[in-house]
Amino acid sequence: WDSEDFQWSAALKQKMKSVFGISELRPMQLQTMNVTMSGKDCILIMPTGGGKSLCFQLPALLSKGVTLVVSPLVSLMEDQVIALENYNVDAVMLNASTDRNRVTAVQNAMTDKTATMKLLYVTPEKLAKSKRFMAKLEKMYAMGRFSRLVIDEVHCCSQWGHDFRPDYKFLGIMKRQFPEVPILGLTATATKNVIEDVKKILNIPVCTLFKASFNRPNLFYEIKQKSSEYKEAMDNIQQLIKRRFTNQSGIIYCLSRKESQDVTMDLQQRGIKTGCYHADLSGQERSRVHKLWLKDQIKVVVATTAFGMGIDKPNVRFVIHYSVSKSMENLYQESGRAGRDNQKSHCIVYYRLADIFRQSCMVFTEQTGLDNLYGIMAYCTDLTRCRRSVIAQHFGESWDRSHCKEMCDHCQNPVETEKKNVKQICQQLIEILNQASGLEERLTAIKLLDAYQGKKVGGFRVSGLNLAPVTRDVLERIIALMLIKGYLREDFHFTAYTTISYLLPGDKRSLLKCDSTTVLLECIQRQKSTKDNSKP
Ligand code: ADP
Repeated sequence: WDSEDFQWSAALKQKMKSVFGISELRPMQLQTMNVTMSGKDCILIMPTGGGKSLCFQLPALLSKGVTLVVSPLVSLMEDQVIALENYNVDAVMLNASTDRNRVTAVQNAMTDKTATMKLLYVTPEKLAKSKRFMAKLEKMYAMGRFSRLVIDEVHCCSQWGHDFRPDYKFLGIMKRQFPEVPILGLTATATKNVIEDVKKILNIPVCTLFKASFNRPNLFYEIKQKSSEYKEAMDNIQQLIKRRFTNQSGIIYCLSRKESQDVTMDLQQRGIKTGCYHADLSGQERSRVHKLWLKDQIKVVVATTAFGMGIDKPNVRFVIHYSVSKSMENLYQESGRAGRDNQKSHCIVYYRLADIFRQSCMVFTEQTGLDNLYGIMAYCTDLTRCRRSVIAQHFGESWDRSHCKEMCDHCQNPVETEKKNVKQICQQLIEILNQASGLEERLTAIKLLDAYQGKKVGGFRVSGLNLAPVTRDVLERIIALMLIKGYLREDFHFTAYTTISYLLPGDKRSLLKCDSTTVLLECIQRQKSTKDNSKP
C-alpha cells in the first residue's frame, strides 16, 4: 500500500496541494488512503493530531458521491465542517439541533446527482434512530452515490474500550445493508482486544489495520519541579524562555482562563512578547492572537486547552505545561504541537502535587477522570523511567528505552534515586489521617504533608509518632504513589479542594499492615528485592 502508482495517485497529490496546501503526507496517510480508495475496509490507529482526518477528506474529494462520517462529538464535527468550508469543500453536518428545513435540504442533496456535497457528518444517534435517514442512505446507495463510511473514534463500538457509546453498536448493520461501501475506522487509542471486538461488531473480519507510532523522535520530554511560590515559578519560566528559547515560538498551557491571563500579563511585564488565548475571549481576539503568533510577531501564546484544533504552526520550539494536563492523551496531544517541522523541540511540564489536586476537583465528575489524572501524576513522579517509555506504555506500544536516544531528561541525565524503606512512612501517614479523623479534622494532601512535618493544621497536631525526618519532596512522592496505587483516596466535597482519606478494601489494608509495600518501594527506589514479594 506504500505505492504512488495507483490510478488515483496523481489526482491525490494534486488535490492535496491545491485544496489543503499540503505538500507531503505523514506516515500511514498514503497507505490508508490507498486502501480506502481501492474499496477495502481499513482501521487506522494514529495519535491525536497525527492527521487522521485527511485520510478520508482527501479521498472524499476524489470519489463520486458522498462520504458519510459518523462522529460522536458535535463540537469536533463543527470544527471540521468549518475548516472544510474554509478550504471550499462542500461539507455538511446533521445533528439533533439541525432545523427541519436544513435536514430536508441535506437529505435531498443525498440523492441528487447534481449536488456538490462531498462529506456528510452525522452523530451515531442519527443513524440509529432516524428511519427516514436510513431510507435515504439506501436510496443513495442504490444510486451509487454512497462512496465511503468513515467511523471516527471507532473504539466507541467496543464495550472494552474506555469510551463505549451504545449507539455505535448499531453501526454493525451498515456492512450488511451496504456491502459495497468501504468502511474506514479511525481511533487514537485502541488495544488489540478492542480492535478485534470492533472488527466483529462492524462485521469487517478482513480489514487492513494500520498503526502509526506514537513516538515523535524530535521531541525532548522533560519534567521540572514547579515552585510553590508564584514569583519563583515565573522567574524560572522567564529564564527558560529568554535563555534557552531565545527568539523562538512556543505555547504555554495553563489550567484555567484566569491562570492563563495572569501568566500572560506577567510575561508581558517581563518583556516577552506574549498573547493570551482562551474560550472567554472573542473569536476576533483569538484569531488576532493566533495570526500574530503565526507571523512570529508574538513569541508565546499562553492558553487553555481551547488553543488546539487547527493549530498547525510548523516551527513551535517549545510547549510548556505551566500546570499539568488532565490526562496522558491530553498531554501527548498538547505537547505534540511542538516540532511539526521535525526539528528538535522541547516539551516541558512544570509539576507540583498541589496542581494535581486542583485538577482532580475539575475531573472527578468524569467517569475515568481520576484514573487519567493519576496517569499524569505517575508520569511526573516516576524518577526511575525514561519518559518516552512511560508514554509508549500508556499507548500500548512496545518500547526499548535505548530508542529514546537521550531525548528525555531521564535518559540524558538519570537521577540517583533514593533508596529508602518507605513502609514506615506510609503507615505513619495513615496513622496521621486516623488521628485527624478522630478529632473530626479532614486533611487535604498539603495539610497532611504539613502535619507530617510537625506543623499545626487547623486544631490538630500529630502526637505520639516518632516521625522520621523526610524532605517534602520525598513525602510528596510517597503520597502521590499511595494515591496512584490506591492506598489513599481523595474525597470530594464540592469545594475547590479535596481531602485525603485512608479507605481501602480490606485486602489492601491488610497488605499494607503485613509488611507488603513492595509496589511502592519499586517506584521510589531501585532497590532490587525486599524480603516480601507479594503484590497487591
Ligand atoms: P487527528 O484527527 O489525527 O487528531 P487531524 O486530522 O485533526 O488529526 O490533523 C491535525 C493537524 O495536522 C491538522 O491541522 C491537519 O491540517 C494537519 N495535517 C494533517 N496531515 C498533514 C500533512 N500531511 N502535512 C501537514 N499537515 C497535516
